[in-house]
Amino acid sequence: MEQGGTTLDQEWVKLRNQLRDNERIWSGFREIEVRMIGSHSLTNLLSILTEGIPETFPGIECVSLACIDPEYEMMRLIDTGAGSSLRPNCFVAISRQELDALFMRPWRPRLGPVNKHLHSLLFAEHPNATGSVALAPLIRRGELIGSLNQGSRDPHHFVPSTATDLLEHLAAVAALCVDNAVNHERLKLDGLTDALTGVSNRRFFERRLVEEVERWARQVGPLVGMLVDVDFFKQVNDQYGHQVGDRVLRQIASLLGKDLRGSDVLARYGGEEFVLLLPGTTAVQGFAIADRLRANIEQSTFVIPEGLDLNITVSIGMACLEPGADSYGPDPAAWLFRHVDAALYEAKQTGRNRVVRAQPQ
Ligand code: GH3
Ligand code: MG
Ligand code: MG
Repeated sequence: MEQGGTTLDQEWVKLRNQLRDNERIWSGFREIEVRMIGSHSLTNLLSILTEGIPETFPGIECVSLACIDPEYEMMRLIDTGAGSSLRPNCFVAISRQELDALFMRPWRPRLGPVNKHLHSLLFAEHPNATGSVALAPLIRRGELIGSLNQGSRDPHHFVPSTATDLLEHLAAVAALCVDNAVNHERLKLDGLTDALTGVSNRRFFERRLVEEVERWARQVGPLVGMLVDVDFFKQVNDQYGHQVGDRVLRQIASLLGKDLRGSDVLARYGGEEFVLLLPGTTAVQGFAIADRLRANIEQSTFVIPEGLDLNITVSIGMACLEPGADSYGPDPAAWLFRHVDAALYEAKQTGRNRVVRAQPQ
């Protein structure tokens, strides 16, 4: 009897511990879910998944997210550069073919030992995913869009017989959040991009102007600003129509953006006017760049549907904030813009197809 009682007690303790474990796992999942739903970017979502899951669940050493991303749009949105806490390769731009080969219909999680192919595809350069893996299909609007992958050093951590309801639930929320984050970031980008030419818009420029002038004020270097205005553009519209005008604007935007550095800003300021900001560029260098852009546009061929070759020229006003100078008044950004504008006016007045540089203070 005594022995029987002990066994019963042990069973009871085991069951109670199991319930506690389950409760802990559930609450961990719930917490990750809440954080995912509140995430504001793809980078943030990825850090919740790849850092939060291993922190919450013992035995899971690495997590990666693989998504169909043919144009590397998501890849560009994810910040894995210096200063980012994300591990390189925690996001995999997987091909449709590779993804379809991972899951068979009906799409269900896949648990079991890892093999060389899975390791190099989903956990590249991660030394800890060497035992077993759990891959959960991400499904959105009835379509397989990716895979949420967890890896363990322990070959028995994920076995095919493990219940997968929690994992499926997590994958469903992850799929929704990935979709949301991408849409949200697209919207944000759209709000700062000019729809016609694809370059930044005036809102973006105004934001960057403030940042660049602040940086200039910290004595990092000179800052050149330019305003580019197409000469007699109204005539192009009047003679050939609005659509031809639009094509010319697109071509000009692409010519202006061709040789820019990563830190330079090009934006469509409005109508047929473009602005450029070139940090770390002296007035002399800025003038040479402006004149090269002007000459490049003058020499380019603008072909319109009728087969005609239009002669398009631009006038450019430029000004430079010199480092260390304190003669720009209380608002150096306003000074820069006022002088760029005045220089453009002078370029128009003195014959067009010219660059005029505002005189230094
Ligand atoms: P100037 O050499 O003095 O700059 O002459 P301009 O004809 O270029 O100057 P104006 O400011 O009189 O005309 C600008 C024209 O740009 C008028 C407008 O129809 C045209 N424009 C502005 N935005 C767009 C656009 O998005 N598409 C097209 N096709 N035309 C535009
Ligand atoms: Mg104009
Ligand atoms: Mg014009």
